[in-house]
Amino acid sequence: MTSKRVLISGASIAGPAAAYWLARYGWEVTVIERAPQLRDGGHNVDIRGAGREVARRMGVEEAIREATTHEKGTRFIDLNGRMVAEFPASTSDTSGATAELEILRGDLARIIIDAGSKDIEYIFDDTITTVTENPDEAVVSFRKGQDRSFDVIVIAEGINSSTRALLFGDEPVVRHLGLYTANFTIDRAHGDDDWARWYNTTGGRAALLRPDIKGTTRAALSFLSRPEGYEELTLNQQKEVMRGRFAGADWEIPRLLNGLD
Ligand SMILES: Cc1cc2nc3c(=O)[nH]c(=O)nc-3n(C[C@H](O)[C@H](O)[C@H](O)COP(=O)(O)OP(=O)(O)OC[C@H]3O[C@@H](n4cnc5c(N)ncnc54)[C@H](O)[C@@H]3O)c2cc1C
Repeated sequence: MTSKRVLISGASIAGPAAAYWLARYGWEVTVIERAPQLRDGGHNVDIRGAGREVARRMGVEEAIREATTHEKGTRFIDLNGRMVAEFPASTSDTSGATAELEILRGDLARIIIDAGSKDIEYIFDDTITTVTENPDEAVVSFRKGQDRSFDVIVIAEGINSSTRALLFGDEPVVRHLGLYTANFTIDRAHGDDDWARWYNTTGGRAALLRPDIKGTTRAALSFLSRPEGYEELTLNQQKEVMRGRFAGADWEIPRLLNGLD
């Protein structure tokens, strides 16, 4: 192969990481992302095992360490806030609810993008619509941009990838495990500290509060349920479902429900 032009679709974690490495090996890299700008949302991601080794080799381990949420560990607590069990942050690469390196997903994406070559081209707010394979190259059409040719295409669109479905038509089937979780960000309150606090209430429902490094608190509400298609609802409808499912729940759950908006 004489030219080395690669198009990567998806600018989250896998896309920019692939861009970093391919640019280092002399490829001309273009990354396309459907969202209008870098999606900086998300809660904690643990950097462990293979991920940690990759971060090390990319030279971003220290940047990640500086951006960690400083979570000291996970505490299971009772209705009165008393600790029932405590799992301090683990220095092990494989175990523990809180990893040594816990970072907000958006911060991780930003670090990986910043570590990459300045020659990597990022295009936001566009998607691949068709790919025509010729013997020497693939001609790609976009929703907005002009047609362009590439030698290799990498699809890093996470689950439910429309481009993989378009090109291969064999997207994996999601197997539901019987649990819904809503993740959101709320105001930090007096009792929120540097520990993740996990509370199990009645009816297969649980709440989790975690520190972040933005001066807010990351909240999660989970409940057991058979598949109801809630992921297809609008955000406002999802909030209504959460209010209904957690109606009457104790501990700090009313505070979390107030924070939903
Ligand atoms: C907004 C967001 C928040 C998340 N929060 C968490 C979290 O709190 N904790 C956790 O453990 N994991 C979280 N995840 C999942 C986690 O980032 C991924 O599972 C994991 O990092 C794998 O990354 P990925 O790059 O393969 O895929 P993803 O992170 O899913 O990223 C896929 C990217 O491709 C883009 N994309 C999708 N379809 C197209 C298309 N047709 N054309 C162009 N671009 C497209 C998406 O907008 C996204 O930026 C989150 C993902 C996202 C997108």
